[in-house]
Amino acid sequence: MRLAICYPPIPSDKGTPLLSQNRQFQWFHRQTAIYPVVPASAATLLRAHGHDVLWLDGIARGLTPEAFWRELETWGPDAVFVETKTPVVKFHWAWIRELKRRLPHCKALIAGDHVTALPEETRRNAPVDAALMGGDYDFALLSWAEGRDVPVDLAALPQIDRTLTRWRDYATRNGNFLRTPGAYLMSARDCWYARCSFCSWAALYPTCRTRPVAHVLDEIGGLLDLGAREIMDDAGSQPVGDWLRTFCEGLLSRGYAKRLHLDCNQRFGALSLADYRLMRRAGYRMVLFGVESANQATLDRLNKGLVVEQIRQGARDAAQAGLHVHITLMLGYPWETLEDARRTVALGRELLRRGHAHTLQATWLVPYPGTPLFRDLQASGGLLTEDWDAYDMRAPVMRCPLTHAQINALISQAYRAHLQPRPLLHAAARALANPGHLLKSASALLSHLRDFR
Ligand code: SF4
Repeated sequence: MRLAICYPPIPSDKGTPLLSQNRQFQWFHRQTAIYPVVPASAATLLRAHGHDVLWLDGIARGLTPEAFWRELETWGPDAVFVETKTPVVKFHWAWIRELKRRLPHCKALIAGDHVTALPEETRRNAPVDAALMGGDYDFALLSWAEGRDVPVDLAALPQIDRTLTRWRDYATRNGNFLRTPGAYLMSARDCWYARCSFCSWAALYPTCRTRPVAHVLDEIGGLLDLGAREIMDDAGSQPVGDWLRTFCEGLLSRGYAKRLHLDCNQRFGALSLADYRLMRRAGYRMVLFGVESANQATLDRLNKGLVVEQIRQGARDAAQAGLHVHITLMLGYPWETLEDARRTVALGRELLRRGHAHTLQATWLVPYPGTPLFRDLQASGGLLTEDWDAYDMRAPVMRCPLTHAQINALISQAYRAHLQPRPLLHAAARALANPGHLLKSASALLSHLRDFR
């Protein structure tokens, strides 16, 4: 079978969509490209089973719709797969209708957290041949292509074919990378906690599966051979405990620690100072943590499983071990007052001022279908709209005591925390390692301020 894995371009005056491999959708003025690990694994697995695969990411490559259609039609697929997300699901319904008009015999497959939550809605609105459920697109696609149930076993997956999936298209335009070219992998699907009520990927991957340490180390070895200089492990929360210790020892014994920068997502409260020190020795550069809110009542309502003191302690420990600490904040909770929201911004600013965090990201809270947060708000009449186009952080979709302008002002204020003396010094130190990065960080900051002005 000839199968195309596609991200069609989505022309919009809102900017460039950050759709692939992202738990929260956003339009950006300045394009960020994230390598979609699971679709790349799907492409690899299909080819390993003898299918012809086309990897066609029109967003990452900046293709015009015309150029994209030309490439797709010339190749002539039997089936096309697209990954979608709530704010662009209506676009994808229309795109699939167009696909069927241009290539009437081509099968259309769609997947993603929105489709997993509301498969019938997509079946009603677009002539899809299959709405794939869950996040294991590789096994789901192979099962569909071969008409048999392929058991999900991450250890049995071949190493991702990076050439087929054009990893270089995603290797530089990504603010996570201090050194480029950078690459993405996932040591697990997806998060060993998987209980936060707002997390759309917890619905995609309700049970966490971890890959064997040696399998991930082999993947890193292959990426180093390709020339990668920094690698982001984009598992929702990287595995901890014995897995992490064995992994760090492997990075050291294979000599990878000296050759790469490694980044990962992690939860506060999961690791000790000794763990962070081991990670630093093993080549880790940056750890991304979700703070979400400085208010205990909010953390509890989100089922975050955290107390505020763990945030301060964890950030302090990770920074003390020499790691770059990146934190994410969310604003616009339906139950938070202006004072509550200000407390979250103040915590972000405080962590940066003290040097316990080095960069931050602030976004609107979006209740994606499939999450407990969405279900609660829907049941209580807390949603303002179910027009999915609006779920893109551009306008309020929940009843909230704060105005749109107030939330954007708070987000801008959070980003301006980077202009305090300590974060500026830290940015200058990073610039010594990579002079181009300073320019990139400054332009990213300006772009965020523009996105939320
Ligand atoms: S810790 Fe992060 S990835 Fe895990 S469930 Fe919570 S928000 Fe999702």
